[in-house]
Amino acid sequence: MQIQRGEIFTRTMTGRCPNCGHFGIFKNWFRLNKRCPSCEMELEKEESGFYFGTTSIGYVLAIVIVIIPVCILVVMDMLNMWLGVAIAILGSTLLCTLLYPIMLCWVIMLYYVVQAEELPENQKK
Ligand SMILES: [Zn+2]
Repeated sequence: MQIQRGEIFTRTMTGRCPNCGHFGIFKNWFRLNKRCPSCEMELEKEESGFYFGTTSIGYVLAIVIVIIPVCILVVMDMLNMWLGVAIAILGSTLLCTLLYPIMLCWVIMLYYVVQAEELPENQKK
């Protein structure tokens, strides 16, 4: 294989194309370009399978980072229940919004580290 899994990992975790390492896979904060501007590799898979992945990572992060700590504070009477609810809702929304591009990188990273042979560069003989 031309591109090893370690290389795919570092490329995607720094927001670059897993295939050619070019910056600019993002169209905006919430969307990927349809294709990499440099190597033309398809970035949006199967009607946005990547976006479903970010939703599940987002839920897990929101539960672990925001909701569980808020619940603990409420149970320990250190936080009013309704204030806790408000913080949990706002905090989860903010967290997912701010981390969205990073979550997209993680999903792409997971996908191509597992299936490294699917990269166009790795299919060349
Ligand atoms: Zn590329």
